[in-house]
Amino acid sequence: MSNDTSLAGFIRGLPKAELHLHIEGTLEPELIFALARRNGIALPYASVDTLRAAYRFKDLQSFLDLYYAGASVLVTEDDFEAMTQAYLERAQADGVMHAEIMFDPQTHTARGVAMETIFAGMARAMRRMRESAGLSSRLLLSFLRHLTEQEAMQTLEQALPLRERYDDLWVGIGLDSSERGNPPEKFVRVFERARGLGFRLVAHAGEEGPASYVRNALDMLHVERIDHGVASEQDPALMQRLVRAQIPLTVCPLSNLKLCVFPDLAQHNLARMLRLGAMVTVNSDDPAYFGGYVGDNYLACAHALGLTRAELAGLARNSIAASFLDDKDKQRWLHQLDALIKEI
Ligand SMILES: [Zn+2]
Repeated sequence: MSNDTSLAGFIRGLPKAELHLHIEGTLEPELIFALARRNGIALPYASVDTLRAAYRFKDLQSFLDLYYAGASVLVTEDDFEAMTQAYLERAQADGVMHAEIMFDPQTHTARGVAMETIFAGMARAMRRMRESAGLSSRLLLSFLRHLTEQEAMQTLEQALPLRERYDDLWVGIGLDSSERGNPPEKFVRVFERARGLGFRLVAHAGEEGPASYVRNALDMLHVERIDHGVASEQDPALMQRLVRAQIPLTVCPLSNLKLCVFPDLAQHNLARMLRLGAMVTVNSDDPAYFGGYVGDNYLACAHALGLTRAELAGLARNSIAASFLDDKDKQRWLHQLDALIKEI
């Protein structure tokens, strides 16, 4: 067995949570074509290969344009179920025990898809995988930040009547899409409303945007976790605060590479932040578009950044600690990981 195979096996064997994952970003080209055919939707790509060949991005916006086109094939409950099922099976193969899944209802409701269709399809797959495979998952309803706060508020109000029906799954609120020019302060009121309703809060910040967006997401939106947050390093006082308060950063290394946030993986700051004591985690973001699921992200970082097995296990430990799992489940996985780390 080569070192690479054994390292991949070690990574797969780490019980881990995936905390930064957009379900629409798990649509593989094959599934996009299958759903387009089923729903009679014409795609501007001749084949799976031409679509995959278009996955060369120069920045966040060039990716988002393609991402929204891909999501347009999602119409029925069955479509949302098939997408979610495919992701959960893939995550399970990577040793994911718990997944916190972001979804963008506005991408779908704007095309006439009912909120209920989105929830119902995803829930079917999530509950099935919980029963059949013991894989737990939760939903984070995310607002598109390039749209207005009023539209975000309407989306929240539209989803609220479904809360009770999906209260085993829907636990939180997120903020994603085009970061630059759409700072956290644009969404203060809708986050305030969500907080009052008892939702857990996360937001993308400091991916392409500056460190001040991370600060404002914490101070003005009162989020518990920062999605990405890699720009925090530009502000040493902020970095110290993140370490001191152990505020989780859900880092997505292969995404950062694909969207040119870092010129190559060897220059990524994941290992630096980890060694500084920050609560960093490794995630796949939009794995179908960025060339790798969560296991691939761990493995690529292990190679490019020289992460030790103890550090890889520490990253998995952080992912469980930073999750919104119930305390009992959290302790169970942490206990397993601590035992495993002792043996390294
Ligand atoms: Zn993201």
